[in-house]
Amino acid sequence: MRNGLSPSLIERVLGGKPKYTIAELEEKFPPRNLPEGAFVTRFAPSPTGFMHIGGLYQVLINSKLAQQSNGVFMLRIEDTDTKREVKDAVQIILDSLKKFGLSYNNDEKYGPYYQSQRKEIYHSVAADLLARGLAYPCFLTAPEMEEIRARQNAAGFPTGIYGEFARDRDICEEEIIKHLDNGEVPSIRLYSNGNPDARIFCKDAVRGSISFPENNEDLVLIKSNDGLPTYHFAHLCDDHFMRTTHVVRGAEWLSSLPLHYQLFRMMGWTPPLYIHTSTLDKLDAETGKQRKLSKRHDPESNVANLLADGWPTNAVLEYLFNIIASGYEESKLKGAVKSIWDYEFRPKKIPMSGALFDMKKLEWWAKENIAVMPVDELVNSVVNWAQEYGDSMHKAQIDDVKYLTSVLSIERDNPKRIRKDFITWKQTLSEVSYFWDSLYQPNRDFEFNHDLLNEFLATFDIRDDKDTWWNKIVAIATKIGVKNGDVAMNLRVALTGRTNTPDLYSIMQVMGENCVKERVQGALK
Ligand code: GLU
Repeated sequence: MRNGLSPSLIERVLGGKPKYTIAELEEKFPPRNLPEGAFVTRFAPSPTGFMHIGGLYQVLINSKLAQQSNGVFMLRIEDTDTKREVKDAVQIILDSLKKFGLSYNNDEKYGPYYQSQRKEIYHSVAADLLARGLAYPCFLTAPEMEEIRARQNAAGFPTGIYGEFARDRDICEEEIIKHLDNGEVPSIRLYSNGNPDARIFCKDAVRGSISFPENNEDLVLIKSNDGLPTYHFAHLCDDHFMRTTHVVRGAEWLSSLPLHYQLFRMMGWTPPLYIHTSTLDKLDAETGKQRKLSKRHDPESNVANLLADGWPTNAVLEYLFNIIASGYEESKLKGAVKSIWDYEFRPKKIPMSGALFDMKKLEWWAKENIAVMPVDELVNSVVNWAQEYGDSMHKAQIDDVKYLTSVLSIERDNPKRIRKDFITWKQTLSEVSYFWDSLYQPNRDFEFNHDLLNEFLATFDIRDDKDTWWNKIVAIATKIGVKNGDVAMNLRVALTGRTNTPDLYSIMQVMGENCVKERVQGALK
C-alpha cells in the first residue's frame, strides 16, 4: 500500500489541524438508538431558490418511510456550492415543507444540518484518507485541466482526472511542499484504486443489485477554492455520521453509485440503502410524448405556483403518494385508510422511470379532498389562501366570514350528493363569485321570459320552505305555459348570470330577499 502524508503535511495541505480522529467522530455521532427496522432518511436539497415538485415527491417518500417505521426524517441543507447561492433559497424550502405539513426531526446531536457548517467533519475524514494514502493534494490549475481534457478528447479517451492523466497522483512530499511554499492551495482528490475493466456490485432498493465498471477517476473530495466538500464526499461523511439508513435521491445520481460504494469501502463503512427515484414527467401538449417536468417551461413543476394557485396541499400529497403507492387510491376509496399516514407502502413499489404528474389527475384528487372537507376547514383554507395570495376581489370575498361560510355550505349537507366542483381555493372563490354584488356579472345574452319573471316577483316570499317554493315554480310554469325547468333556468340565469349552478333554493336563501329581487328586476330591464 502507498504511504500517506505525515500529520504536519496534512495540516498544511488542509490549511489547519483536523479537529477529530475518525474514532472521535464515531463516538460523537454514535449509532442511533432506534427500534429494529427504523428508517433514518433525509431530504438533502441544494438551495437553488426553487422547490421543484420532484423535491416534494422526495420529501414525501423520505418522511413516509421514516414515519411508517418509527424512524427519523431529517432535513439537510447542501449549501456547499458557494458559487450558486441564492437569497432566501433555504426559506423557500422551509416554507414549502411547512405549508404541506411535512415536518422533520433534526436532532441536535447529529447536526449541524447545514453542510457549510460541517467543514471540520469533512476535513477530519479527508485527513484520514490523506494519512492512509487514499487521497492526495492536487495542484492542477483550471487551464491545466482544460489542456488535459483537450488532449483526452483528441485521443478519444474518456475525460477526467485518472491514471496517467492524474499528474499529482503520486506527488512526493518535497513537491507538495514546493507548491505550498508557492502559495498554491490544492484540492483534495481521491486516490482511486478502481479498475474500469472490473465490475462493482451496488444495490438500489427498487432496482436490486446493479453492476457498474469500477470507478477510476480521482474525483475531487475537497475543493480548492473554498475548502468545502463536493457532493460525493459530503454525502459520504454526512450520511455515515447522521446514521442515515436510506438515501432517497434522483436517478441522476445512479451513475455515481460505484464511486459512492468505493468511498464507503475505503472508510470501512456500510453504505446506506439507496433508492433512486424517477423524474416526474408530463405528457407534452405539442408532441404528445412523455417528458420530464421542466423547471423552465412547466409552471406546475414549481411548488410555489401550486401554492399560489391554491391547490389543496393534502390533495397534492395524496396524488404524489399514489404515484409511489399505487394501491392507495383504492384503499382510500374503500375507506380502509383515512390518509397517507395510515397506509404502509413498500419502497420496492416506487416507480423506476416515467412517473407521470398529470394535472387532470391532480384535479380529481383535489375535488375528492374538498368534497369531504368539513365546511369550517374549507372556509379556513380559502380564507388563508386569499389572505396570502389573493387579489383585492378575493379579499372582498373573505371579508364577511359568516356569509362566506353560508355560500360554501351549499350542497354539503347530504353526504351522498356533495358538490364536487371545487378544485383549488382560487377557483372556489371564482366559482361562487356571483354571491357578491361587486363580482356578479349579469348575463346579457340570455333571453329572459319577462312574464315568467314578473310572475315570480309577484309570488316570491323568502320565508317559503323548499316545498312551497317549488310548488310556486310549478304554478308559474303552468300559468305561463312553459316547463318547470324553464322557470328554474330563467331564475338561475337572472340570479347568478350562469346556466349551471348548485341548488337554486339554497342560493336564494343565502343571497337573501333583497338581492334576489334586485337581480330579477335587473334581468327585466
Ligand atoms: N443535494 C443533492 C441534490 O439536490 C442531494 C442528493 C441526495 O439526496 O443525496 O440532488
